[in-house]
Amino acid sequence: MNVEINPNWHQRAEQAHLPTRAFIGGAYVDAVSGETFDCVYPGNGRIIAKVAACGEADVDAAVISARKAFESGAWSRVAPAERKKVLLRFSELLLQNREELGLLETLNVGKPIANSTNGDIPSAANCIAWYAEAIDKVYGEVAVTADDVTTIVVREPVGIVAAVVPWNYPLSMAAWKLGPALATGNSVILKPAEQSPFTALRIAQLAIDAGLPAGVLNVVPGLGHAAGKALGLHMDVDCVGFTGSTEVGRYFMQYSGQSNIKRIGLELGGKSPQVVLADCDDLDGAARSVAAGIFANSGQVCNAGSRLIVEDKIKDKFLEKVLLQAAALTPADPLDPSTKLGSIVTEEQLSRVMRYIEDGVASGAKIVAGGNRVRQDSGGFFVEPTIFDGVSNQMKIAREEIFGPVLATISVRDFDEAMTVANDTIYGLAAGIWTNDVKKAHRAAKAIKAGVVWVNCFDRGLMSVPFGGFKQSGFGRDKSIHAMEKYTDLKAMWFAH
Ligand code: NAD
Repeated sequence: MNVEINPNWHQRAEQAHLPTRAFIGGAYVDAVSGETFDCVYPGNGRIIAKVAACGEADVDAAVISARKAFESGAWSRVAPAERKKVLLRFSELLLQNREELGLLETLNVGKPIANSTNGDIPSAANCIAWYAEAIDKVYGEVAVTADDVTTIVVREPVGIVAAVVPWNYPLSMAAWKLGPALATGNSVILKPAEQSPFTALRIAQLAIDAGLPAGVLNVVPGLGHAAGKALGLHMDVDCVGFTGSTEVGRYFMQYSGQSNIKRIGLELGGKSPQVVLADCDDLDGAARSVAAGIFANSGQVCNAGSRLIVEDKIKDKFLEKVLLQAAALTPADPLDPSTKLGSIVTEEQLSRVMRYIEDGVASGAKIVAGGNRVRQDSGGFFVEPTIFDGVSNQMKIAREEIFGPVLATISVRDFDEAMTVANDTIYGLAAGIWTNDVKKAHRAAKAIKAGVVWVNCFDRGLMSVPFGGFKQSGFGRDKSIHAMEKYTDLKAMWFAH
């Protein structure tokens, strides 16, 4: 499936219908307050829409509608085979509308149109289809008990799930929550990031078209401290599936404690190491992967391999290869189908990335590629792929999540130092190891404290494999059957004979 040849995406962008109203109880509505917030196209910095700014009153309405739908049983108690059909139709509709949805995604976040149309949207559709297929393949248990009793253990939907998601892969991240939460029979309130509400709002109607009963999926766009907080504190929301920063993840833990002890799943930030050992026999392949691992999506990736930890003896040779890869990547017009690197999501995020670059220079690291804002005349927010050499793991650029196209190169003496540096971080989302030594590969995979470890590859993913972090990268898992655990409660039923 490839994007059609030379479509005039600029013309299509001008004519695009941008959804701007909240979706509650099966209908598009304005925010109760009538307030809106601005959406900017990061490719040229212009305001392209004013979107309903939901607050407490709108969240209340969404929760009432979700609860009513849940208790009616129209989705929560419907036969699994029926739920499967609806979700498969939903997935199909995402695919049928992938060019429209891809365009909405690019207009929101400035990622290359070829990526959103051929990557993000099909990947979200695949996620929904995967959970649809799983619905009637997950069994309960009969526990081992004494002979005078039979005990059945089942998983029941928690009820109302709030899915609060970020802007870097807006629809994919939403699908990682919607798939398992809807498949297990919950009602969902989706809160997209304020930078990227369009696809979330558009798919709400597609879900209804697929046959999802009204009220089962509601979408409340709005600012984090308003709509997000109201969901976190709501006494009738049973679970929050959150993806975003560690900072906001902490808030959700607090909201839970201050309200109804709602279940929280947290997929948070990262500072993933890419460890390249001297015995790696495919330095070209490793260099391609290291560059893709930090520059894809302009580095706005939770598991971005932002720390290159490389053995002294091959550092210069290896870095040269990574530099060649970076040189081939130039930020360009997100609406051009040949563009590989788009913009940064907002001006604020751009300034944040530039501050980190300045900080790296001030702390003594050396820029060996990039380092500049580019395409300023477009009005958009573009940064060159940037590589630092001579970084110590104590520097801010090695410790904090930049969420931009910035790679920090750290030299180490040997394997043991590489493991120490790799683990010297508050995060534990992912890691890459490049080695030809099978023993070191196994030792490293065990030694690294992260939810995902890739050996001689990076950023591979399948719906069948869980994704999520250790340490301050969060807990709970997206993807795979394990994600269904977050959205269900275990019930033990005892039948005395
Ligand atoms: P963010 O934490 O700023 O926002 C995420 C969501 O939380 C948004 O919907 C936002 O509106 C909401 N929010 C913000 N402040 C809030 C508050 N006070 N109360 C309630 N809700 C609030 O994150 P972001 O900038 O949108 O996304 C980038 C972050 O997401 C990075 O840290 C990245 O690593 C992380 N991320 C993690 C994963 C993963 O799977 N681990 C995947 C993608 C992104």
